[in-house]
Amino acid sequence: MFIRSKRVFIDGKLRPACISIHSGRIGGIHSYTFMADSALDAGDWFVLPAAIDAHVHMREPEAPQKEDFTTGSMAALMGGVTSFLDMPCYRSPPTTTVGALTQKERLASAKSVADFGFHFGATADNDELVRRLQPPSVKAFLSETKSPLTLVGPALERHFSSYDACKPLCVHCEDAVLAESRALKLKNKTHEEINSIEVALSAVKKVAAMAKKYQRRVHFCHLTSAAEVNAAKSAVGRNGLPPVSVEVSPHHLFLSIDDLPRLGQTGQVNPPLRTRSEVAKLWKVLKKVDIIASDHAPHLPDEKKAGAPGFPGVQTMFPLLLHAVVGGKLKIEEAVRLACSGPADAFTLHRKGRIAVGNDADLVIFNPAESWTVTLADLRSKAGWSPYEGWRLRGKILGVFLRGEQVVWDNDVLVKPGFGKPLQRTDSIGQTRLDLRRHAKERQI
Ligand SMILES: [Zn+2]
Repeated sequence: MFIRSKRVFIDGKLRPACISIHSGRIGGIHSYTFMADSALDAGDWFVLPAAIDAHVHMREPEAPQKEDFTTGSMAALMGGVTSFLDMPCYRSPPTTTVGALTQKERLASAKSVADFGFHFGATADNDELVRRLQPPSVKAFLSETKSPLTLVGPALERHFSSYDACKPLCVHCEDAVLAESRALKLKNKTHEEINSIEVALSAVKKVAAMAKKYQRRVHFCHLTSAAEVNAAKSAVGRNGLPPVSVEVSPHHLFLSIDDLPRLGQTGQVNPPLRTRSEVAKLWKVLKKVDIIASDHAPHLPDEKKAGAPGFPGVQTMFPLLLHAVVGGKLKIEEAVRLACSGPADAFTLHRKGRIAVGNDADLVIFNPAESWTVTLADLRSKAGWSPYEGWRLRGKILGVFLRGEQVVWDNDVLVKPGFGKPLQRTDSIGQTRLDLRRHAKERQI
């Protein structure tokens, strides 16, 4: 099969090209006129690499009434996301044992329409298991109230020292102790005032210092402010040490506390929305940010009204970024770096994130001239609401390909549950690495 367009995103820019697809992969990148008669002609539409969402909560097996691997992955595909990494922070069971991981793999294999992977959860007493298992990524929480997987003190340090220093240890940074003392001091204050930027920054600084101390790879989840991004990046590896990576979420770029009167209780999220001036500063440091991830956290409308934190976001993440591109607020190369190649590099996702020969043919066909309104009828999540409902977005995703297969066209998902495959993770893409042999040797001792 051949797809051609005057604007294919290759090597960091849009240019005319014809892509050939063989056995689900990109077989060749040719001139625009190559095989002109038999190519699917996308004309002026953009042909982009499909997006990757490295931070989602698909809710299975804990709460399939909120979301399941089929509805969550359909929402992903509709939003141009063909690969996702699911978080471990469930209560029954958390993904902190081999059994729980196997159960999720089985469910996702049977039900997902998009390619999938998992972050393993760190707990106070599973560092020995993590040391033996060495999963491709691990998630830890510094916030007591936000997850059953909270780690403090020696338990966190054990994970920092025993988990492979080249693999991403993902950290949710909010300082629970500081938040509690603010809650006592600031009686009757809001969620946003208690869980302020200072609360997040305090945790980021601690984790950045530990990343330096243990000379290890750390991934900072959903940072909300320029101050946090700068503090995290101060721990960037030098002299061949593993780099840190930084993630932001769409709601911290496209929403602010000014949206709270409109959203009411549904506006609650961890970490919280910030002021408009802080949002503007965050946009200014986007160049230092490695990836965007939705933190897709679906709750039903009644649960939101009762204060459940989190937004559904996997379907709107890439469209919001592309809306910013069409509006001139963001360069296309920045959007693609944040949503496609950045996450592929940060999580070493083999053959994903770029239109390049040998990579999976995961593509998005995007018409910058069309616009659409976010309506609940279009959203595939079970959440049944969106903070962006009613927003008019510039540009529209017309079609999506996953491993060369047309998976979305004309607002429809064209593949059945089970089409999604486990993501392959490698140690060797885009990473500044420590000597893995030394680490392997240390692990055996
Ligand atoms: Zn999350």
